[in-house]
Amino acid sequence: MKAYVLDGIGQLNQHEYVLRDLQPGEALVQVAAAGICGSDLPRIFETGTYHFPTIPGHEFAGVVKELYADADEEMLRQWMGKRVAVFPLIPCRTCRSCANHQYEMCSNYNYLGSRTDGGFAEYCIVPVWNLLQLPDEVSFAQAAMMEPAAVALHAIRRGGLHPDHPETGIGKRVLVMGLGTIGGLIAQWLSQCGVTELTATGHHAPQEELMHRYANENYRFINTNQTAWTDDENTYDLIFDCINDSESVQQALRYVKPGGQIVAVGNPKKDLTLQKDIYWKLLRKQVCMTGTWNSSFSHDSNDDWQILLRYLQEQKLHPQALITHRLPFAQLPKGLEIMRLREEFYNKIMIDLTVCS
Ligand SMILES: [Zn+2]
Ligand SMILES: [Zn+2]
Repeated sequence: MKAYVLDGIGQLNQHEYVLRDLQPGEALVQVAAAGICGSDLPRIFETGTYHFPTIPGHEFAGVVKELYADADEEMLRQWMGKRVAVFPLIPCRTCRSCANHQYEMCSNYNYLGSRTDGGFAEYCIVPVWNLLQLPDEVSFAQAAMMEPAAVALHAIRRGGLHPDHPETGIGKRVLVMGLGTIGGLIAQWLSQCGVTELTATGHHAPQEELMHRYANENYRFINTNQTAWTDDENTYDLIFDCINDSESVQQALRYVKPGGQIVAVGNPKKDLTLQKDIYWKLLRKQVCMTGTWNSSFSHDSNDDWQILLRYLQEQKLHPQALITHRLPFAQLPKGLEIMRLREEFYNKIMIDLTVCS
């Protein structure tokens, strides 16, 4: 099959690749759409994957083309030829977190697209456990957006909100720092959670447009490229920090209300420093600061992926609106270039494998 293989740091090559045989419990998924994640950039160009060669790509969807050798009739009927979304984390299922079904905190997990072969290829081997069948109304591009959309929902729930219970968000003043893909999706979820008063910061005018169209037209947008943004101390009940650098953490601790909450969402790019008078704000205001990681997927109707699937089906959430570029498979390197150079505005770059280049 054709695949983009990371043969070493910075060496992503498209070449023929022979997949291993399917093991019990595994399916072969023909990839139909694969999103490029912000985390793929450092993974490909700076840190590398856990070993080489590895096929990157963890945000993808496709069709089940084959099942392991002795799959029974029921298994075949349930999965063969089905359109599926893929939860990319493969838990160990023996550690303490796994025993609690909190697979996102598994201490010994495998991961499609970083620790094992992922979706930047024509096919990917995926454990059947990690598949989620798609209803007809949900497109492959939407399904490939499910991973970031579930991550955003997880952050929302860590912040004490739930889209099925809008009373959790009503009357709350919320701040979203950084309106990239996850921040943009958080804004969409917030509108489902009854939040009407929201301020979001970003760098690009189109982020504002997308938020107004797909979240709430009354949400306030601050373009921090154009204005030096300061806010009043003690303003927000709830803050989602999708940046997580020294400055954003300080701003969050300043602008959060006494007794308020901060959800740390973004992956810091370097060490953070915090002055002690800022740290004091955490103490004096008795701020609840919480982390969020990945998303919940447990085959339970209340896990992030199942809730998200329902919202996609009911067309209440529009993650596909954040796709700014759709490129054929052959142009995947161009997608990475766009993200690396940052010369043109992009949000999510989606590789569409159903079209020929
Ligand atoms: Zn990702
Ligand atoms: Zn585990």
